[in-house]
Amino acid sequence: MMLTGHFFECDSWVTLNSALRDRNRTYALQKGVREVVYKHAIALEKFRECVGNRPVRIHSWVRCPELNGETPGHSSTSEHPKGNASDVDVLDQTPELTFQLILEAARAGKIAFNQLIIERVKDRFPGIVDEWVHFSSPDKILPPEKRGLAMRMVEGADGQQHYEVVQKFEFKEA
Ligand SMILES: [Zn+2]
Repeated sequence: MMLTGHFFECDSWVTLNSALRDRNRTYALQKGVREVVYKHAIALEKFRECVGNRPVRIHSWVRCPELNGETPGHSSTSEHPKGNASDVDVLDQTPELTFQLILEAARAGKIAFNQLIIERVKDRFPGIVDEWVHFSSPDKILPPEKRGLAMRMVEGADGQQHYEVVQKFEFKEA
């Protein structure tokens, strides 16, 4: 089913985890999650506009609690199980450029978010750094201090990945 002009309901339950695919689909379609998914699809349309009307590829959107638990680097307060966040990249754009374009749009008041993060996994495939943009819709799901945060994942001296705040925006309802 089409959610909005460019996003389908099936985009919301996409996962590489074949063992949990059916469970994730059932979870994504349940009442309470579905409504948030629809709201996030509207936010993704705005995101798409702000990156120059380019196709947005969804890596991961809704994650049932089991799938979230199996996702490397997952957070227990993740917005993915709520359906309010997606990990994306944009066709022919580096995640860095996408991040900068959304930041610029947010500074101009054209888009709001709970969290915008460049996330990365190193050596999932040998020698390759995988990057994507995590984007969550403005929503009171998160406590105020966690809303409107633009962050990037950086490697610390200890070799661990940390979140570094780039900018904190004032919370605005979508
Ligand atoms: Zn994410």
